[in-house]
Order: sequence, then structure tokens, then C-alpha cells
Amino acid sequence: MERLGHLINNSVVQGMWEPFRFIRHAITFSDLLDENGNWDHEKLTAIFHPNVVSHILGVKCLDPNDSDDRLIWRWTPNGNFQLRSAYSLLTQNLWDPKNALWRCIWKAHVPQRLRVFLWVLCRNKLMANTERCYRHFGNTSLCPSCNMADETARHVLRDCSAASAVWQHLVPVPLSPGFSETNLQLWKSRNDLVFNGVKHSTDSILHRAITWARYYSGIGQQPSLTVQTPRDPILWKHPEPGWTCLNVDGAVSSVNGIGSIGGLLQDHEGTWLSGFQKGIGMCNSLHAELWAILTGLEFVWEHGIEILQVQSDCKEAVQMLNAIHAVSCPFPLVHAIAKLCQRGWVVDITWIARDGNRAADALAKSVDSSELNVVHLNNPPTSLLPLLIHDASSISMDSI
Ligand SMILES: [Zn+2]
Repeated sequence: MERLGHLINNSVVQGMWEPFRFIRHAITFSDLLDENGNWDHEKLTAIFHPNVVSHILGVKCLDPNDSDDRLIWRWTPNGNFQLRSAYSLLTQNLWDPKNALWRCIWKAHVPQRLRVFLWVLCRNKLMANTERCYRHFGNTSLCPSCNMADETARHVLRDCSAASAVWQHLVPVPLSPGFSETNLQLWKSRNDLVFNGVKHSTDSILHRAITWARYYSGIGQQPSLTVQTPRDPILWKHPEPGWTCLNVDGAVSSVNGIGSIGGLLQDHEGTWLSGFQKGIGMCNSLHAELWAILTGLEFVWEHGIEILQVQSDCKEAVQMLNAIHAVSCPFPLVHAIAKLCQRGWVVDITWIARDGNRAADALAKSVDSSELNVVHLNNPPTSLLPLLIHDASSISMDSI
């Protein structure tokens, strides 16, 4: 019977079930038998394609004297399930190490995360709405961005107006970091819209893609991190578009040796995003600076920022953190920061002159040092506003 079920299923797939389409849910195998328990040829020919009938007739139909009908595992001779047979069934013919697509993607000179993304994409496993509907995970297959078409992976990454606006600014080179990263950023921005209700602009997607691609092309890996000598020592140095900037500072009281830290997060135009302050107990000034960087990084990680420039006015701390073997440094704070930087984000730790870091300095010095929990500042303290406005003016001066 099981073989017959398979045959009928195949007939349906092959379109041979057409005449019976409207009643196929209403019959059972027994309806196709005559009173003697044999196939009723007439019924079969009325329903099935002649080619199928001949196959059905070749199957011994149920005999009342047989044992009861039961579920069997068709891939073992005795009908009993075996994990080994299931595994070999699942893996047979599925793996071809010479597969051109496989070789092309896994040999591409792009980071592993992009190879994985491309592979998932090529296997059509991205959970766009069409795929989600197919799997009964969702009710609509419409694109949440444009509401104009079914959301397939191709639509999200190429055909949607949101995607084509990004591609118009790029000349993609297949399997380059730029091409792969743009696809990934388009997918991530789609997910941000669906799951967080956050809509990213074309510019923002483009900047993120380019920044990541530059980073992987080696530009970002150069020691940016070499000490800068700002042209204008008075002003904050805003980062490149696409980067978010974290300014941090530590302070130690000359009276009681108690340390405190503070920091602020701004976009590349100097718009305040968030800030933090914290007391850290007794420590020296280098410790305070490193604590400020560590706490700041943990603070920003929670915000989901992916491309971050950390600005500190402590040369010694910046140099320690940019050393090649920072992660194996025996100094626990350096080790912890270096490990944090290895997560899935881009972090550039750079030095800035003290005059350009005055907002962070003010935050560090205005902490109630007995407050040992991180205090989050959604809005800047009023006393900080003149400094922030002054710093933000560095952008317009730079562009002159
Ligand atoms: Zn769309």
C-alpha cells in the first residue's frame, strides 16, 4: 500500500491525477477495490491515466488475510526505521565537492560571514516573506518595504526599490567584499524594518556596506590607530559617514584617588545618541582610561552599533590596545577590551587631543563617584550643550 501511495503522489505531481482532482480527498484505497478485494479496473481507468493504471495493477492490493495495514519505513527491506538509512537518504547525492557554485563561493576572497551569507542565499534559504509563507511561518508574502511585490530573496536584494536605489550608487564586482557586503546590508536593513520597525535610508545602507567592504579590503585594518595630530586641536574630530563615534574619558580625584569615567555616543555629524557615567573606585589614571574604554564598548555593544570609532585622549591606552598581541596581554583590562573588539563589529580605537575630548572629560568629572553602576544618559546634561554645539561645528569647518 505504501508503494501505491507513493505512486499516487507522483501521479499528482506529474499532473496525471487531473480527472480526479475534485474528489481525491473523498476516497480511500478500498474504494478502488471490487467486492473480492481486487483492483477495480473500471474505477481505476476512470480516474487515472492509463500509464498509471498499469503501475497500480502491478501492486498487490490489500488482502483481508494479510496482517493489518501499518506504517512502514520504505527505505529498509524490513520496513523498520533505521537512523542510518535516514542519514544516507538525506545525504545521498546532495554533496558534490566539485559543484561549481560551492567552489566559487567558498573560494571567494571575502570574509567568512559573507561566504556563509552567499551560500545561504544561493541555497534559497533566506527567510524572506515568500519563503516564510511557504513554510507557514507567516501570512503575507508581500514585501514590507515597498508593498509592491512578493518578497523573495531576489526582490529584497535586487528588485525592490529600496535595493535598486542602493545599487545605483555602486558598480558591483561579484563576490568582492563590496558586492557581498551590500547584499548582506540590504538583508540586515530589511530585517531591521521587519523586526524592529527601523527603516534605513539608502545612504545609510550604502555607507555601512562601503565601510565594511573597505575594512575587509584592508583599508580599515591599517593602524588608523596610529596617533593622529589633529589639524585643529580645539575641536572634536568627527568620524567618516557610516561610523558612530564614542568619546570616552577617565578621571582620578587628586584628593582621594577615586576614579570616575564618562562617555558619549554621537553619529558622524555630532548628533548626540547616548551617554554614560560611572564611578570606578580607587585606581590610577591609566586604569581609569581603560575602564572608560571597556565600559563604553560594553555600553555601545548593547545599542547594536556595528561600526564604531572610539576616541580616547590617552596615548598609552590607545597604543596598548592597538598592539598586535593586545588580546594576549596579561593586563586584564587590555585583554578584556581586545576580546570585546573581536566580536562581530568594526571597532577603531584612536587617539584624540584632549581639547577634542572635552565633552567626555566633562562627563567623567561630573560623576557622583559613589555611583558604581553605569548611569545611562538619554539626553545630554544641559551644562554640556555649549561644548557639543562647539564640537559639532568642526564638521562645517572641515567642509570649508
Ligand atoms: Zn520591495
